[in-house]
Amino acid sequence: MEFPSLKERGLDIHAFTCAQCSFCQVGHGACPTYKVKRVDSYSGKGKMLITRALAQKRISKEEGLEGLRDGIFGCTLCGGCEEVCQVDIPFIQIYQLMRSDFKDMGMWPEGLGDAKAMLMKSRNIQGQPQMDRIEGWSYWHPEEDYLLDREGVKSKTAIFLGCASSFKAVPIQASIATAMIMEKIDEEFTMLGEEEWCCGAPLIMTGDFEGAKEFALHNIRKYKELGVERIVTNCPGCYKMWAHEYHEFLDIDHEFEIIYGADFFMRLIDEGKMNNISSDYEATVTFHDGCDAGRNAGFYEEPRKVLENLPGVTFEELPHNKANCYCCGSGGVLRAFDNEFALQINELKVEDIEQTNTDIVVSMCPSCVDFMHGQLPVAGSEKASMDLAVIIAKSLGLEWEGLDEVY
Ligand code: SF4
Ligand code: SF4
Repeated sequence: MEFPSLKERGLDIHAFTCAQCSFCQVGHGACPTYKVKRVDSYSGKGKMLITRALAQKRISKEEGLEGLRDGIFGCTLCGGCEEVCQVDIPFIQIYQLMRSDFKDMGMWPEGLGDAKAMLMKSRNIQGQPQMDRIEGWSYWHPEEDYLLDREGVKSKTAIFLGCASSFKAVPIQASIATAMIMEKIDEEFTMLGEEEWCCGAPLIMTGDFEGAKEFALHNIRKYKELGVERIVTNCPGCYKMWAHEYHEFLDIDHEFEIIYGADFFMRLIDEGKMNNISSDYEATVTFHDGCDAGRNAGFYEEPRKVLENLPGVTFEELPHNKANCYCCGSGGVLRAFDNEFALQINELKVEDIEQTNTDIVVSMCPSCVDFMHGQLPVAGSEKASMDLAVIIAKSLGLEWEGLDEVY
């Protein structure tokens, strides 16, 4: 067997359970990579059939491994195949394990080694100085020191921003919005700031589990020092790591409660803590279910319930929504492997958004929001891409300088 980690977990059997029904290629929404490439090895079915052929020695390694590697890494880990598969193949887990086995075979795609070296050195995916995590943009908050003063304070609640929400202008607006909403409802919180390291998602997603462990253990240690009991994160990729993957792939069991941002905001509404939302802010919006929030975690109702409770907001579903929502193309570290491919997938997403009569596509994933913000104007669209936290903050009448600069 070429893939020992599949065998170790008893998942090698799935190369043989695929019924070849092709739902994962053409089923509702299904596979964005197959939609673009129209090549079997870019779908769940193709990957399983090549793995089966290799295991049965019907094809040689020389014939099969390289193409399979490209299919395994040329995937956004969007979960579309897992969603529709009639024999319940746990694809995301399988792909990440196979990526790990390709790493051990010395077949990691070109570029990933350099990206990893940068991440290990800088502790963030942007390769920027860690001090920029809050200090680089705290001036956008109406009180410049407010965010810096939250850095490293003791608190039961922490906001884990994640790399994607810490360095780029668009997602940073969601970080500011979240902090200002917390402030407005008198919720104490802490942030690690320059002591926040990447959650390790890019490493786990590319199969480098050992590398990811160092990151996870650092953040856990820091939160324990601050007396943190619950961690709120707007990034569904970070949520997935903290809530599931540390346990699944790193054998780490921490005791923190992990709360995804949309769920957190919905709870605030249920608890009556956001009763003073006004209808002064008016917007017509649609919603993009980021793959790690939607298909891979099931947070479909929470963001919709939040939007329903914003009186000035009019909502329209995307043609492909919830479990059928098209991936934006930025998942699975695909952009590091093949950015052009990710852009092609994004074109399908933009076409879907353009079919709505809305002005804004809302999401709660910093990578999706940022990618769509960049690509919508390229496609000639006049729609904006905004985080749910920003929409909530605007509906609460909160204002800050960065918003005007970005939108
Ligand atoms: S995870 Fe998404 S992109 Fe990857 S094979 Fe499955 S459907 Fe295609
Ligand atoms: S949906 Fe599942 S069973 Fe059907 S072809 Fe795809 S992997 Fe095989």
